[in-house]
Amino acid sequence: MTSEARPGHPDGAPPAYEWPAGKSAAAVVSVDFDGPTPYLWASRNSPKQLMGELEQRRFGPRQGVWRILALLERLQIPATFYVPGAIAEAHPAAVRTIVAGGHEIAMHGYLHERLDDLTPDEVGDILDRSMQALAAAGAAPPFGYRSPSWEMTPGAWEKLRTAGVRYDSSLMGHDHPYWLDGLVEVPVQWQLDDAIFYRYVHGSTRAPVPASVVMDDWVREVDAIGRFGGLAMLTVHPWLSGRAGRLVAFEEMLRRAGDHDGMWWATAAEVADHHRGRYQESDGSGTTEL
Ligand SMILES: [Zn+2]
Repeated sequence: MTSEARPGHPDGAPPAYEWPAGKSAAAVVSVDFDGPTPYLWASRNSPKQLMGELEQRRFGPRQGVWRILALLERLQIPATFYVPGAIAEAHPAAVRTIVAGGHEIAMHGYLHERLDDLTPDEVGDILDRSMQALAAAGAAPPFGYRSPSWEMTPGAWEKLRTAGVRYDSSLMGHDHPYWLDGLVEVPVQWQLDDAIFYRYVHGSTRAPVPASVVMDDWVREVDAIGRFGGLAMLTVHPWLSGRAGRLVAFEEMLRRAGDHDGMWWATAAEVADHHRGRYQESDGSGTTEL
C-alpha cells in the first residue's frame, strides 16, 4: 500500500488500530453535563458568590441539555453523558430522559472536584457519593469516569481501578483507546472540546471563537481521524453548545461528519468494551516508558 492509503504507518510504526468488523474509525459524542458545578467547586472557599457565571452555567440544565437531547434524537446518535452527582440530584428529569434516549451515563465527580485538590481517600469517597447520586436519579451503575478538567493523579487512578471503574476518558496519550495501568483509556483531545473555544466569563481575555469556525475545524478533524483510523472524541457542554446558534452549527457539523464511510458512532462504554474484547493489556510493547 502507498503511504497515502496508510497514513501514519510506515515500517516500524505501531499497527493500525482494529475496530469492529466493517468499521475503520470511531466517533463518540460526549456531553459534559457540568452546569454550575465547576464554579461552585472553584468558589467553595470564597466568601462571595457571583450570580453572573452561575446563571450562565445554569442555562445548561435549564435549556441546553434538552436541545442536545433533541438533536441526538433527530440524528439517532448515541452519546455518553458525564454527569456530576450534584447535577443528577438536582435534575433527575434530565437523567431520566438521557437514560430513556438510550445514552450512556458516566461519572464526572460529585461537585466537579479537581483531582489535584483531593487526597486519594477523598477521591474514593467522591466516587461512592457520585455513584449513589446517579443511581438515585435512575441511571444504571456507571462503567466509566471522566475527570473534571481532564486532570489526573496516580493516586486517583488507583482509586478508579479499585472502585471497579471499567474505563477512564480524561487523557490524551493516543487517538484510539489504549490500556494504561489496569484501565482502558478512551482518550479525549482539547481540539475537539467546545469549552476551549466557547467559554467566556467575566474577565476572560479573549472573545469566544465563532461556531462556524469551530465546527468547520471539527469536520476536518473528524475526517482526518477517519483517515488515520482513530477515535474522534467530541466533547460538548450544554451551557456552551446548547446556545441556539452553536447548537445549529453542531447539528450541521454532525450531519457533515456523519457521512464518513466506516465511521462507528458509539458510546464511550461501547468503545471501551470493544477495546477490552480486542486487546489484552499484555499486548503492549512491555517497554518502560520515560
Ligand atoms: Zn466538566
